[in-house]
Amino acid sequence: MKFTEHFQKAKGKSLVSFEVLPPLKGGSMQAIFNTLDALMEFKPPFIDVTYHREEFIYNKRPSGYYEKTAIRKRPGTVGICAALMHRYGVDAVPHLICGGFSVEETENALIDLNFLGINNVLALRGDARQFEDKFIPQADGHKYALDLVRQIVGMNHGKYLDLNIQNGEPTDFCIGIAGYPEKHFESPNFGTDLQFTKEKVDAGAGYIVTQMFFDNQKYFEYVNACHAAGIEVPIVPGLKPLTKKYQLNSIPRKFFINLPEALVHEVQKAKDDDAVKQVGIEWCAQQSKELKAAGVPCLHYYTMGDTETVKKIAGTVA
Ligand code: FAD
Repeated sequence: MKFTEHFQKAKGKSLVSFEVLPPLKGGSMQAIFNTLDALMEFKPPFIDVTYHREEFIYNKRPSGYYEKTAIRKRPGTVGICAALMHRYGVDAVPHLICGGFSVEETENALIDLNFLGINNVLALRGDARQFEDKFIPQADGHKYALDLVRQIVGMNHGKYLDLNIQNGEPTDFCIGIAGYPEKHFESPNFGTDLQFTKEKVDAGAGYIVTQMFFDNQKYFEYVNACHAAGIEVPIVPGLKPLTKKYQLNSIPRKFFINLPEALVHEVQKAKDDDAVKQVGIEWCAQQSKELKAAGVPCLHYYTMGDTETVKKIAGTVA
């Protein structure tokens, strides 16, 4: 079933869903099952699986020189999606990015998904690779998520890259996109960022999943701004609990978001990481309750492999 159909079926009740990361290369599928087995009691209608492009690593050679190698540390997104659908009977939502894909590779990836019966996809640009100071598209690849959305919509109309294909079988993808309550860090301002988001919706995206936020007010203001801009698709709040003291710096640095003063104060007071985790759980649970009370379409948790924490939080709104 399509992501958006799940919302319609829920008739205003907030759903609960999860995002998982593929295990590091050399790891096993069991790690994902262990995470999700414990979360299935919340009956998530869909599970997102992130996509990770290759990174450059530098290996020291016997000569003393460093050799630059490209390696994908977390492959397996499509296989994991198929395995989750098979094991749990849920819908899987693979993340598909522009980075590292030519348009033809993108088309082939979408054909694989279509043949596997996966008809939801979160269309993203991806970030710059480590050691690169800006996002560099693949040669003959997409520069913005908007272009990826347009390609998927084209396939939904039976349009393939090979113009010799007449009456191509239309795919039927439901397309999600990312949204940023605190603005995407590269955008010159909030309003411009919103206009780019609107372009993706106008091009055919059916829903938005937000970057994590720790202040619900930012989400509510974002939803209002989207409505004012004419964006009427469901906006799913993305939630992540803070669990370690160092995240007071690493989360703002990595995700370009602010942490509320009251949360920072509580974390600073915590005597060890167990106490920090407790603060994070209570904060995220409070966020979840307020968002549910406001009637959000879905509470979407970034698990980052931490089942126990996410389970405690989801349990407070079940
Ligand atoms: P875009 O929509 O392309 O926007 C990128 C920037 O370009 C923004 O500043 C935007 O304002 C600007 N822009 C957009 N269109 C135009 C235009 N026409 N002209 C000029 N500027 C424009 N990354 C991964 O690698 N794998 C994942 O699995 C993954 N999952 C994610 C899930 C969620 C819910 C979120 C919020 C992010 C995720 N990301 C993931 C990170 C994401 O790829 C980055 O945030 C990336 O920097 C931007 O992606 P986007 O799809 O928002 O890009």
